[in-house]
Amino acid sequence: MRGIYIHVPFCVKKCPYCDFYSLPFSQSKAEDYKNAVVRNLSRYNGEQFDTVYFGGGTPSLMYGHIAQILNSINRSENAEITVECNPESADEDVLNALKAAGVNRLSFGVQSLCENELSALGRTHGANEAKNAILLTSKAGFENISADIMLGILNQTKSSLEETINELCGLPVTHVSAYLLKIEENTVFGKRYVEIADKMPSEDLQAELYLTAVDALEKHGLKQYEISNFAKSGYESRHNLKYWRAEEYVGIGPSAHSYYNGRRFAVGRSLEKFLGSEFQTEETTEEFPDSEEERIMLGLRLSEGIDVNERIKGRLKLIPREYYNLSDGRLSLTPRGFLVSNEIIAILA
Ligand code: SF4
Repeated sequence: MRGIYIHVPFCVKKCPYCDFYSLPFSQSKAEDYKNAVVRNLSRYNGEQFDTVYFGGGTPSLMYGHIAQILNSINRSENAEITVECNPESADEDVLNALKAAGVNRLSFGVQSLCENELSALGRTHGANEAKNAILLTSKAGFENISADIMLGILNQTKSSLEETINELCGLPVTHVSAYLLKIEENTVFGKRYVEIADKMPSEDLQAELYLTAVDALEKHGLKQYEISNFAKSGYESRHNLKYWRAEEYVGIGPSAHSYYNGRRFAVGRSLEKFLGSEFQTEETTEEFPDSEEERIMLGLRLSEGIDVNERIKGRLKLIPREYYNLSDGRLSLTPRGFLVSNEIIAILA
């Protein structure tokens, strides 16, 4: 079965490092947006989906509309339904509305539990707010709770990262995504890069932070299953696994990507256009490498790895042994290998 991704392009405030498509939130735009999403979903009435992912943006701002959107999706009985949420927008009303709508997985943008790092990132929540949001979510009856943390934050150290992970893992989280802060040109950080460059961790420190995260999360029982994703057993993100296993999904909303009927395409980054058209238009067709290259590129992101053929076996001698595991005819990368995965894929593909 395919999954559905719904991009909610609203946030309360733009974070200085963020390059996702999002605009200031307003209730009237949210209502129009919900109607446009429902209209677009009507094209898929005949199809059943087993994952739904509301990403953004800050989808939890639309909590009053999620039930209506979900009611227009033909979902399988055990569908995984995720909503991304910012800690400051999770109160009892929001959580109860999401639960009643059928949402069964919440993903929080925590980023750090150190106040100085949160303020360096321009986040609007504090560490206590994030911790309370997770506790409140568990109390509201959600057992599948994910948290995003960031690596390579300005002035971050190995011990501040360990502090964040230890505190986070003392909370009822079942899944953690750990992404490296990347400075994108079109963001406030990108424009102020000269000012912030000397506060950014060096490449060596970034690598150490990554290995520290893998180690600390594993110690807390969150097993790495993808380059940047860790989960307790059985709590891996079923929706995101579709991306990495090259399974198909429908993307709805401005900037959303789809892989549908063998074609990959994206919708343009314009809310106005999305609201003004009966159905969204596919603006960019994406070329993907041939199936063998795709298999290697996507499969080596996952700890489950890929089946090895003779060609790959021949090329493995070009890769240092500490970067990969080879067992039962399957090749997977070690955490050190994940750090240089682009170079390894270039050799193997
Ligand atoms: S809340 Fe998330 S999506 Fe919104 S601006 Fe910040 S990082 Fe971007």
